[in-house]
Amino acid sequence: MAAAAAAGRTILAPNAELSAALFDALERAHRDAGDEIWPTPRIFDLSSWLREQHLQQQLTGRNSARLLSDIEERELWRNVVEGAALGRDFLDPAGAARAARRARRTLSEYNIPLQALERERSDEAAAFLGWNRAFEARCLELNCISADTLLADALPADAQSPSGAVDWIENPLWRPAARRWLERHGRMLLPEDAGAGAVSVFKAHAAADELAAMADWARRESSDERFRAWICVPDLNRRRAEIIDAFDAALAPQRFALGASGAAGYAVAGGTPLADYAPVRVALELLQASVGSVPFAQFSMLLRAPQLQGSDAEAGSVARLDVALRRRASSEADLTTWLDLAERVARSEELGTSPGVQRLRSAQQQLSQLQGAHRFSEWGVVWIAALETAPWAFRARWSSTEYQAAERLRELLATLASGDAVFGTHGRESAQRILRRALRETQFQAQTGVPRIWVSGQILDPFLNYDGLWVGNCSDEQWPPPTAPVALLPVRLQRQYGVVAAGADAQLAHARELQNRWQKRANHCVFSYADSAEGGLSSPSPLLPKSAPLAAAPTAAPQPHWHAMFESAPELQSFWDELAAPYPAGELARGVATLRAQSRCAFRGFAEARLDAQPLERPIPGFNERERGEIVHHALEHIWSVLRDATALAALHPIEQGRLLNAAAVYALEIVRKRRDPGKKWREREQARLLNLLGKWLDVERARAAFSVESLETNDQVASFAGLNFRVRIDRVDRLADGARVLLDYKTGAASADWRGERPDNPQLPIYALLRPDALVAVAYAKVNAAESGFVAESERSRIFPRSHDTKLEGMASFADLVNVWSRRLERIAGEFAAGHAEVAPTNKACNSCHLQGLCRVPAALEEADESHE
Ligand code: SF4
Repeated sequence: MAAAAAAGRTILAPNAELSAALFDALERAHRDAGDEIWPTPRIFDLSSWLREQHLQQQLTGRNSARLLSDIEERELWRNVVEGAALGRDFLDPAGAARAARRARRTLSEYNIPLQALERERSDEAAAFLGWNRAFEARCLELNCISADTLLADALPADAQSPSGAVDWIENPLWRPAARRWLERHGRMLLPEDAGAGAVSVFKAHAAADELAAMADWARRESSDERFRAWICVPDLNRRRAEIIDAFDAALAPQRFALGASGAAGYAVAGGTPLADYAPVRVALELLQASVGSVPFAQFSMLLRAPQLQGSDAEAGSVARLDVALRRRASSEADLTTWLDLAERVARSEELGTSPGVQRLRSAQQQLSQLQGAHRFSEWGVVWIAALETAPWAFRARWSSTEYQAAERLRELLATLASGDAVFGTHGRESAQRILRRALRETQFQAQTGVPRIWVSGQILDPFLNYDGLWVGNCSDEQWPPPTAPVALLPVRLQRQYGVVAAGADAQLAHARELQNRWQKRANHCVFSYADSAEGGLSSPSPLLPKSAPLAAAPTAAPQPHWHAMFESAPELQSFWDELAAPYPAGELARGVATLRAQSRCAFRGFAEARLDAQPLERPIPGFNERERGEIVHHALEHIWSVLRDATALAALHPIEQGRLLNAAAVYALEIVRKRRDPGKKWREREQARLLNLLGKWLDVERARAAFSVESLETNDQVASFAGLNFRVRIDRVDRLADGARVLLDYKTGAASADWRGERPDNPQLPIYALLRPDALVAVAYAKVNAAESGFVAESERSRIFPRSHDTKLEGMASFADLVNVWSRRLERIAGEFAAGHAEVAPTNKACNSCHLQGLCRVPAALEEADESHE
């Protein structure tokens, strides 16, 4: 092979993975020999070489037909299948297009004549033949050819032989058509047998153990710097993440350290969809956001995308803008509306101008320059300009992989642009759909060279010799592999023409052949298998050599990446820190919410009031629960500011009531709408719901003992406990006929007597009582909700509220005595807050309604403790 390359001959391999390995081997040989300069070896996979040959023919005018790119071919098949009536019923169009393309390739690779297929009478064959005719007609119309015709068309067998220049490696992977052509026109290069090396068999108890053992073997052996291994995991595509995890744990544990980088010393063949790489993902997000209505979650993700932020300070500022937007945003809007809102909110919250928002605005303006239907050559120019303005503005800080992924996207856009004749014109949405599909279907892997440990997913003869070779999945059920005929083509026909995967006998012979070759390719060859995940015991494939010894008992256990981090973590010291600095005297604490949180759990009080650990709002369609509560409060405030007492309520005529409730609903909705407007449709729905709810509520109030309203939604008052001041707003104060007072708090959700006990779940009513203790005989939640309206009260008198009795006042003789008890409790709770008490000590049900589990981690720890006791 080295001599052929040195003579400038072209060397052909059956696929790209093998050609890359051959290229690397030749380059390495030159370096090992101390060469400083050498001609680049001409090594290609057959398909790339044929494309190159076709291009040469076009340049010399010998062939005018244009070769379809991969994307063009996929889209053409898709159009053909979607446009055909026949066969639509039994496959989804995308799957059918893929299957049809593969079937056509198989016909050409195995020299199966179309006439043979025409003689078959299956629905699948008929559907395929129809699609194939339509595909060929489209190719003719466009003066294009597909890659599967290159071998026959670009270099027909009777043309002048290029055998003087072409060598090919002997390999079972060649399909019959290619092999025949190569035998006629090229010179075969045989592999160099290493001689039968040692063989062993390894059994694992689980698939994860099998991977861990492979990785550990590679780690141990590669302590010798010259060691090179080829490892085959046949189901690599399905288990890619697990494989990387296992090999990283053994060969690149540094990858799990924060900020660490560096070569891994191994590589996994194949790639992942280009659409998954960060610069491509954010490019797609921008393009998608530029069309139609965008949900808030999508806009928020784009706004906060790290690629859009020029610095950490910008990222922090945009995160604050996002929090503020969540309180004001509707659930969906177009990108222009989102950007307008973001600028308004940034101004009103005094966050300053956001460069990220401006970049998005510029990108969006560039995108909107092109309207209507256009060719990809036009769309591509606009897209690239927009990407460079916004998400690709900071390319200088990209990693090599990110840079390569973005370059691949540019190449792909250039490919789309060169296919204008095939694709025609498309509107923005349709063009973006095709681009998205192409990015998902294009596999990408950053160029890293061929390291010493190579993990392949292809069951093939690696041709080159290695120090070690390991093949997994060799149980009796997996080796030889089960048959997997090509869809749409009759199995009988496939067997007749030698499609290996179509027949059990062919698979068996192929497996024997490969196994024989593997044993000649390495000094040490390991075959492994694992018990099934369902707990079933597996047996080795009967093909494995009976005399092979079992490999040494594994020392490796599966090492998910957290395991490596755990192992390398330093020893930790425990330090209880439950006391924060005292709350600054004279500073206004937030209000009732602070004391409520502190009473439920000291850590919760500290985190919510002093760390400002608040849950993020999530804009939903319509009004959220908090807004609905506010609307009811405003509406009732309006109603009682008009009625003022029970007598006016009793005299209210139904028509007047309707007008009053309507006015109250309009008033309340207008207040909330000014801050966040979910739209007319939702306002109308809310208004109808509100009228019904308020009508029911007035019926509840009609059944009360006579009262008049003394005050409504008092402006913020200040309550002082333990030297701290808290803001308080009482919903309503009523006077009874004898002048006694009743304090009310509206609740639109569930409500219970949660103010009782040393650490009340909600000390809100006691706080009200301490602000207005004069002549006080009752406090109550007014439960205004559609499911159940009524009062939940603490009262020293019966029948103040419908069907109510006096309550036990927690054992106190009078309401005034109870208020004294509440005063002591609140002083203590506020005192703990003021002193900085922050111990994680929840009351019985406090964790159920708490959003801080991720911060305190107590519920998770309790669950773990429960499980360990079971
Ligand atoms: S989840 Fe429970 S323990 Fe943790 S802060 Fe909330 S109430 Fe306290």
